[in-house]
Amino acid sequence: MKSELSNKFFDTYGQQPAATYFTPGRVNLIGEHIDYNGGLVLPCAITLGTWLCLAPNNDQVIRFKSMNFPEEAVIPLKSAYEKEGTGWYNYPLGVFNEILKNFQIPVGFDLLYAGNIPVGSGLSSSASIEVVTAYAITAYLGLDYDRLALVKLAQKVENEFIGVNSGIMDQFAVAFGEKDKAIVLNCDTLKYKIVDCNLGDHVLTIINTNKPRELAESKYNERVAECQAALQALNQEITLNNLCELTADKFALHSHLIKDETILKRATHVIKENDRVNLAAKALNNGDLDEFGRLMYASHQSLKDLYEVTGKELDTVVEFCAAYPEVTGARMTGAGFGGCAIALLKKDAEADFREKLTAYYTEHIGYAPTIYISEIGNGATTI
Ligand code: ADP
Ligand code: MG
Repeated sequence: MKSELSNKFFDTYGQQPAATYFTPGRVNLIGEHIDYNGGLVLPCAITLGTWLCLAPNNDQVIRFKSMNFPEEAVIPLKSAYEKEGTGWYNYPLGVFNEILKNFQIPVGFDLLYAGNIPVGSGLSSSASIEVVTAYAITAYLGLDYDRLALVKLAQKVENEFIGVNSGIMDQFAVAFGEKDKAIVLNCDTLKYKIVDCNLGDHVLTIINTNKPRELAESKYNERVAECQAALQALNQEITLNNLCELTADKFALHSHLIKDETILKRATHVIKENDRVNLAAKALNNGDLDEFGRLMYASHQSLKDLYEVTGKELDTVVEFCAAYPEVTGARMTGAGFGGCAIALLKKDAEADFREKLTAYYTEHIGYAPTIYISEIGNGATTI
């Protein structure tokens, strides 16, 4: 990818790039829909990602080009920016806007992006392009930002400049990811632990359902509200800031306070999923992929029955995986209602899995999924 991008950079801008940077996408291995309940997530960086080549210019402009989108922009250097329409370059423009709050940018930039993360599929191409830009510009100019500062900057861009109300996991995972490691992250306190995640004779398989995610946002907001309702009911007897402060035992003592059956189901998922993350981290620590796989299936089942965010497409993928002997664990990942599932697949079964899953899914859903094989890769880096 690097040399292809360098050549394209030369064709586009008539000079060699001064530097090239990479930031991956991410998957969340387990711990779904609990980040906004003060719970634990367990993401890792993948080997699909976003590359950025840049060179400084003396023209007092920032030139934005991407090999993935036809739209281009040339924007004068200013002291602040506002979002311009819906173009992709708003993601990096938002990053410039944040950096400019703290530092002057002394030169213009010619930028060329290329990515192989499917966009809008829940693998966080948005966090990837934000973090690669923030990492690149601050590294190139030698500005004083550590990784956590870059993560917070990128999340601010997503929330305030782009206007998408998401948590910090995505930016955190793509910045802090490490090869063959996963991150146990408390999204509330930002305390985190890097844990070994050696997949042995397995590969991480990402299955994009290719379902348009039109329901995702409103349903996501509905689930957030339902968890708040559960918290309110429990707070009649105890004082909690977040549902995940409760252990399963304590929850059992107080769950009678939640009278609404749907709200009780949602809260039960949250409490048990948080427990599963702790168990999953232990399983990884013990190198016990079988146990990890069981927890993945249990997570999916809970997201299907109790949290009701899976849908026919994701269920069809996981159903196939559960019956396929060379898959050790599978579940939906991300917000649900479409997007991607992940599976731990034995390496030598890759071709057969692709063929059979594609046939099964197409027969049941009417169109094909896209299957990606990834390793667990590094976070933001200079290449
Ligand atoms: P997700 O983060 O799930 O992939 P989003 O809708 O949050 O989906 O972000 C996708 C958007 O990020 C794209 O529509 C585009 O604006 C921007 N983007 C991601 N990757 C690239 C890229 N390689 N080049 C240009 N823009 C990109
Ligand atoms: Mg996104």
